[in-house]
Amino acid sequence: MRRRKHWGWGYEDDAWSAEQLRAAAPGLEQHLRIAGGEVEHAVALDQVVLPAPRVAPPARLEPICSSDVHSRASHAWGKSYADVVRGFRGRFDFPPDVVARPRGERDVEAVLEWAAGANVAVIPYGGGTSVTGGVQCEVPARFDGTVSLDLGAMDRVLQIDEVSQAACIQAGAIGPVLEQQLRALDLTLHFYPQSFELSTLGGWLATRAGGHVATVETHIDDLVESLRAVTPSGAWQSRRLPGSGAGISPDRMLLGSEGILGVITEAWVRVRPRPQAHSLAAVRFGEFSDGIDALRAIAQSGLRPSNCRLIDSEEARMTGAADGTDALLVLGFEGPLQAQAPVGELLDRALLLCAQAGGEWDDGAVRRPRWEEDKSAGDAVGAWRAAFFRAPYLRDAFVAMGILSETFETAITWERFAALHSAVSAAAMDEIGPGGRITCRISHVYSDGPAPYFTVLAPARRGQELEQWAQIKQAATNALLAAGGTITHHHGVGRDHRRWYDRQRPEPFAAALQAAKRAIDPAGLLNPGVLIDSA
Ligand SMILES: Cc1cc2nc3c(=O)[nH]c(=O)nc-3n(C[C@H](O)[C@H](O)[C@H](O)COP(=O)(O)OP(=O)(O)OC[C@H]3O[C@@H](n4cnc5c(N)ncnc54)[C@H](O)[C@@H]3O)c2cc1C
Repeated sequence: MRRRKHWGWGYEDDAWSAEQLRAAAPGLEQHLRIAGGEVEHAVALDQVVLPAPRVAPPARLEPICSSDVHSRASHAWGKSYADVVRGFRGRFDFPPDVVARPRGERDVEAVLEWAAGANVAVIPYGGGTSVTGGVQCEVPARFDGTVSLDLGAMDRVLQIDEVSQAACIQAGAIGPVLEQQLRALDLTLHFYPQSFELSTLGGWLATRAGGHVATVETHIDDLVESLRAVTPSGAWQSRRLPGSGAGISPDRMLLGSEGILGVITEAWVRVRPRPQAHSLAAVRFGEFSDGIDALRAIAQSGLRPSNCRLIDSEEARMTGAADGTDALLVLGFEGPLQAQAPVGELLDRALLLCAQAGGEWDDGAVRRPRWEEDKSAGDAVGAWRAAFFRAPYLRDAFVAMGILSETFETAITWERFAALHSAVSAAAMDEIGPGGRITCRISHVYSDGPAPYFTVLAPARRGQELEQWAQIKQAATNALLAAGGTITHHHGVGRDHRRWYDRQRPEPFAAALQAAKRAIDPAGLLNPGVLIDSA
C-alpha cells in the first residue's frame, strides 16, 4: 500500500528529494519570474511531535482505528496553501485523536454510536483535498476528543445499471479508482476536478465540486440520481429518480452539506459511454476582454462546449501553453463515435464566434475531430492540460522554495465581471506588493456569467507565510464579495470561508439549516464549526 505524504500533495514515494528540489528551484524561479528564497526542507515525520490522544476507541472498533503519528498528522489538515505550509513546518495544531477507516456502513454507524457516547466530534474525511479548512479537527472545547472518519476504504462501484446508464458508487472512491472500475464497461462518470487524483466522490458531493467540463453539467450536483448517508438519527436514503418535483430535494439538502448533516456512504450517479470524438482548438486573443466577449457569445449560442477556458496571457505563459503575449482560449467539444462530424462542426461554429471577437489561431492548433488517445499531443491544449494536473505537486515545491501560491474562485454575471476582475486584482496586488502577481482564468461559463479563478504567486515572507496568506486572502475575498460574487463557485465553505459565507447567505436560511442540523445531529457531533456555528 502506498502511503500518502504526512503533509502536502501526493504519496511519500513521489515526494521530491532535497537534491531534486535544489536542482529544480533556479529554473522554476526563472520560469515563474518570482524570486523565492533558500530551499528549505519539510519537518520529517519522525521529528513531528503530537499531543497524546485524548480518547481511545472501544475494542470492537480497534481493527479500523489508528492513532499513530502518520495517521494523525496526515489527517490534521486539508490542502490549502496555509495547510501545506503548516504541515511543511511540522505544525499540527488540531490532530485527530483517532483516525477511523470504516469498511462499510456498519462501521460508520458503529463509529457514530461510539462518538455519541464518548462525546467525540466526527470529521468526515474523503481525500483530504479541502482548501477551505473542511477536514481539520478544530472543534469547540466542549468535546472530549475528535475522530477523523476516513472513507477511503469504501471505494467500490457497487452496481451498474446499463439500461439507465447509472452507477451506484461508494463515497470513498477517488477519481482514478472509480473511473478504472467504470472503464471495464466503457463507461465514465466524466467528472474531472483538478484534484481528481486524490479527491473522492463523497467529498465532491459534500462540497458540490466542479469538474473541468466548462458548460451545462459543471457541478457534481448535475450527475446525481440519489444519495445515501448515515446520520446520527439513522439512514438517509433518497429514491433513484431521473428527476423529481416532490418538495425540497433530499439530495439537494445533502449536496454541499460538508459533513455536518450526515456521512455520505454511496450515491447513484449518471454515467455515460466514454466520449470517443474530440475537437480541440487553442485560440489567441490580444486582449483578455476580447476573449471574454467570445466566451459570452459561445455561452449564449447554445453550443455547449465541454472545454471553454479562457486563460490570461501571464497564466498561459506560466503553464507553457503560450508565450505570454496573448490570452488563450482552450476550446473543445466531445461526443460519441457516431457524432464525429458534429463535434467538428460545433467547433467550427464556435471558432466563427471567436473570430468575430478578434480571436486568431494556427491551423496546427485545431483538431477536428481526433481520438481520445491523441488528446495529450504536444500542442498548446496538451501543454495546458498537463500543467493543470501537475500543479498540485508543484505547490509543495513552491512552499520549500519560499513562493506563496494560492487561488480564489467565484462566479458573477457578465455585466459585473469586468468590475469584479479589476477590483479583486487591485485588492490582491495591494497586499501582494512588488515581485508578485495575480492571474485569472475563466474555469466555467454559463449563459448569464463566468466563473473566474484567480491565482496568486508572490515571494513568501519566510516565517510569516500564514499572516501573509491571511492578508491576501482577506483583501481579495472582501473585494470579491463587495463586487457581488459568491464566496465560492466550487471550493466550498469549510471553516476558512465562514465569515464571508455568513454575509452571503440569508439569515432565515441559516436558522433553517441550524434547526435541520439539530434535528438530525442533536449532539452536534458532525464537523462542528463548518457552514454554521456549532450549537
Ligand atoms: C490542487 C487542488 C485542486 C483542486 N481542484 C478542484 C476543482 O477542480 N474543483 C473542485 O470542485 N474542487 C477542487 N479542489 C478542492 C477539493 O478537491 C474539493 O473540495 C473536493 O471536492 C474535496 O474532495 P475530498 O474527497 O478530498 O474531500 P475532503 O477534503 O476530504 O472533504 C471536504 C469536505 O467534505 C466533507 N466530506 C468528505 N467526504 C464526505 C462524506 N463521504 N460524507 C460527508 N461529508 C464528507 C468533509 O468533512 C469536508 O467538510 C482542489 C483542491 C486542491 C488542493
